[in-house]
Amino acid sequence: MNSIFGPVNSRRLGISLGIDLLPPKICNFNCIYCEIGPITNFTCERREYIPTAGIIAEIDAFFADREAVARLDVLTVTASGEPTLHSGLGEIIRHLKAISDKPVAVLTNGSLLHLAEVRAELAVADIVIPSLDAAREESYRRINRPAACAPLDLVIEGLVAFGREFTGRCWLEILLAKGINDQPEDLAALQAAVARIKPERIQLNTVARPPLEAFARPLDLAEMRAAAAYFPALPVDILTDPASRDHREKFRQVSEEEVLNLLKRRPCTKDDVATALGLAPVAAAALLQGLCDRGLAQLASHRNQDYFQPTPVTSTEQS
Ligand code: SF4
Repeated sequence: MNSIFGPVNSRRLGISLGIDLLPPKICNFNCIYCEIGPITNFTCERREYIPTAGIIAEIDAFFADREAVARLDVLTVTASGEPTLHSGLGEIIRHLKAISDKPVAVLTNGSLLHLAEVRAELAVADIVIPSLDAAREESYRRINRPAACAPLDLVIEGLVAFGREFTGRCWLEILLAKGINDQPEDLAALQAAVARIKPERIQLNTVARPPLEAFARPLDLAEMRAAAAYFPALPVDILTDPASRDHREKFRQVSEEEVLNLLKRRPCTKDDVATALGLAPVAAAALLQGLCDRGLAQLASHRNQDYFQPTPVTSTEQS
């Protein structure tokens, strides 16, 4: 199996290298809007569906081409199914972080976040985009058609625990299908769940690509904007709205060079860099570590705070 795909220009993340952890159609949901067809292995069992070592070998082979790597904005762990079902998830994310300073994003249906081991494996990622399409039992069953091992209350409690623990960026995706999970009582229930999960932002989606079931129909832009109004306290990206893409552009543009230019203006803490450039603290830390590893920046302590500054250029280097 080929586990690497792309790079693709992702709607939300920029130029993304995809890392697919599963053979097709292994999932604990059978969503009506699924783009990969009916799920054939309907399970909550975590195991090594394909060898972790093989996935890592494919990653390393791609990373041998430094020019191709330089063009990437992000490494996206995903699957033709639910990626957290792969028991090698944590090892693969850690490997990506070890060999690259690119941010690592993970797309998940969120159903296994109630497992502490899954939350721990995801903890080193920079961005996690879990889904929650419905917070009412009836709507949850209609849109996601979950396996019995993924009851709604457990899924929501997992998301709440993850939102509490995760220090990177958590963007909650909500996909709405017309007449299925878009009624006022659905949106009110989602509103209450989101208040407990506390994501950094919401990614509001609808049925934009050919769905598994013909009755899965999209909301129009006006309906999406009305749904977004249920979450006034958070930034809401309507993925079908071209006017709602600023955060992706900003994220995409941050590079080590941009961080170095910031440090040249003034010494910065990790949090200063994160705030100035709109990065998660873990992403800022990764970029700063990359600059230190390459000898371009160094640490200086001041009043018990760690500041980063450019490494002074010696007279020999200048000549
Ligand atoms: S969670 Fe994703 S892979 Fe699983 S059925 Fe739903 S859309 Fe398909």
